[in-house]
Amino acid sequence: MEVNVKIIVKWGGKEYDVEVCENDSISDLKNCIHKHTGVRPDRQKLLNLKHKGKPPGDDCRISHLNLKPGFKLMMMGSLEADIEDVNKAPEGMSEVVNDLDIEDEEVAIENQEVYLAKVQKRIKDYNINMINQPRNGKKLLVLDIDYTLFDHKSSAETGAELMRPYLHEFLTAAYDDYDIVIWSATGMKWIEEKMKLLGVTSNTNYKIMFYLDSLAMISVHIPKYGVLNVKPLGVIWGKFDQYNSKNTIMFDDVRRNFIMNPKNGLKIRPFRQAHLNRDKDKELLNLTRYLKDLAAHCNDFTCVNHRHWEKYKPKKRSD
Ligand code: MG
Repeated sequence: MEVNVKIIVKWGGKEYDVEVCENDSISDLKNCIHKHTGVRPDRQKLLNLKHKGKPPGDDCRISHLNLKPGFKLMMMGSLEADIEDVNKAPEGMSEVVNDLDIEDEEVAIENQEVYLAKVQKRIKDYNINMINQPRNGKKLLVLDIDYTLFDHKSSAETGAELMRPYLHEFLTAAYDDYDIVIWSATGMKWIEEKMKLLGVTSNTNYKIMFYLDSLAMISVHIPKYGVLNVKPLGVIWGKFDQYNSKNTIMFDDVRRNFIMNPKNGLKIRPFRQAHLNRDKDKELLNLTRYLKDLAAHCNDFTCVNHRHWEKYKPKKRSD
């Protein structure tokens, strides 16, 4: 009797349910993954499959791998269309390249194997120091610090003077629905100091799950801009099954920081000149409502255009 094996394939921040027979080979599995994802078998890299300590060959039987039911298989691989886009990009574009907005290149960047490989390396090598554990059923909010949560350039006597208005109210409200991660392109010591300065560490109304620093970032090369360091959410998704592209949102005042995950990023207006704007800035207050609306009404955050967050009107639920 043929026994079916259910495998969950993780690719590009999404999960695909794939079913093969025990007697099928790796080659059959790849064909099946091709049908689900569109990634050709010869472009697929199946990362966490081992047979006798080595990656299995194409003719190896699934039954020899001793997979547990619901095994999560991590895959890397690009779609033909994306590869073509990347290959085509340098030709015939010299005249228009200066008019290209950064987002025209995003699709190509986020699927390039060289960058996905860097993400895999971070997943493997970057050590997260957990401050608080993930909570069941919570979504994920990832926040930049500088110019997002406070004005790090102005001088002041206390942290409170440079803190973006409504910061603690915002974090308190977000914490109802989201686990919160802070990700700054600086060093860990700085992050810890800034969080203390702002009173985030000592606030008892919410808890930060962990901090990520510049070492969790990867560099990407974009012809127009050169080499940029960016914050790929795949690092978090690869380490925690609970979070994925459907339930994660990242706020950053620099759009390029989420070039690896353009649909999961929201460009927040930078908070600068704290002394002038302390009484006017309502960005975090307004974003609190947006996060609540998303949590209550949106099952897939990539389906919402976060550029238009201020106009977001959730569809009424049927109940
Ligand atoms: Mg910033």
